[in-house]
Amino acid sequence: MRLATALQEALDLPATVGNDANLGLRAEWSYGAARGVDTVVYLNGSASGIGGAALIGGRMLRGGRGYGGEFGHMMIRSDGERCSCGRAGCLETELNAERLDAAGHEASALDALAGILAAAIANLEVAFDPDLVVLGGYLGALYDERRAAIETGVRDLAFRPDAEDVAIARAALGGNRLLIGAAERAFAPLLADPAGVALRAL
Ligand SMILES: [Zn+2]
Repeated sequence: MRLATALQEALDLPATVGNDANLGLRAEWSYGAARGVDTVVYLNGSASGIGGAALIGGRMLRGGRGYGGEFGHMMIRSDGERCSCGRAGCLETELNAERLDAAGHEASALDALAGILAAAIANLEVAFDPDLVVLGGYLGALYDERRAAIETGVRDLAFRPDAEDVAIARAALGGNRLLIGAAERAFAPLLADPAGVALRAL
């Protein structure tokens, strides 16, 4: 049984289920760093790894089976550390909270991690040509710490000749981001058609 259906039946209320990164991007698009921008790539670093999402022309990328936007599992180096997904060298194994902690304030170690993030963003540029890249969680913190290195790295590695105008921003909504995105998603049908949405499951 689908999770939304099970919740709906148990609660006798309409239920909707969303991927956390998609909800984070939805919140940033509605009220945060990506407000008013319709082609956005989002990367969020948390204790569980790196979540990713892409908004393309105002529509959230979902993919054929719902796994679109799993950018944390983008391969960065084939001989890298083993990832929870069973492969090796994914973005979230090469750049994670543990490695950031280990880097501390050491410039060369932070620059190496910034270079990994720049390579990932450059790859996403090739795929999506975004107007804005939003970085949340520890990736936002790394961006604040090494902004010049990341932006220079993206410019150096990006495919587009005009990569100079690519905008990168730190996520703006903080700890409530996922709840804001979830609320936006849950209430969207009601807001779109207040008279046509049942407030209890039928
Ligand atoms: Zn992986």
